[in-house]
Amino acid sequence: MCAESIDKRPNGVWSILQCKCPRCRRGDMFQYKNPYDLKNFMKMNDHCPVCNQPLDMEPGFYYGTNMISYALAVLISAASLLAWWGLIGFSLKDNRFLWWIFVNAVLLIVIQPLLMRISRTVWLSFFVRYSPNWAEGDIIERYSVNKEQGNNW
Ligand SMILES: [Zn+2]
Repeated sequence: MCAESIDKRPNGVWSILQCKCPRCRRGDMFQYKNPYDLKNFMKMNDHCPVCNQPLDMEPGFYYGTNMISYALAVLISAASLLAWWGLIGFSLKDNRFLWWIFVNAVLLIVIQPLLMRISRTVWLSFFVRYSPNWAEGDIIERYSVNKEQGNNW
């Protein structure tokens, strides 16, 4: 049973949505499960607890996640616009469009902690690909280490 679960390659999209390490797709990237624990939700593990992959590759590594977060927010807004159009519709004679803007803004604020976590997972998966040999210690080393600059981002 255990060997079978190691051989099986977890689904990439599902592991991103669950914020799993992209190297093994099994270990948690974040220390706390609850994304709405707003004091702790962005605290990351230094290494993957399962395969030991470093999760912060260099100082400022996650600076680029704002682009991912923005792209995801645009996609979600487009999807909510289509859903609103299909379910409620738009008209020039009432405020339904303004209501969509308001509801969409509230939606984006409510899911912001999830978006921030998923953006980091997507970003890391650009640089650290899944390895079927993760159990043999197949990791990607940090690009650079500068502990003094580590918390400046
Ligand atoms: Zn891992």
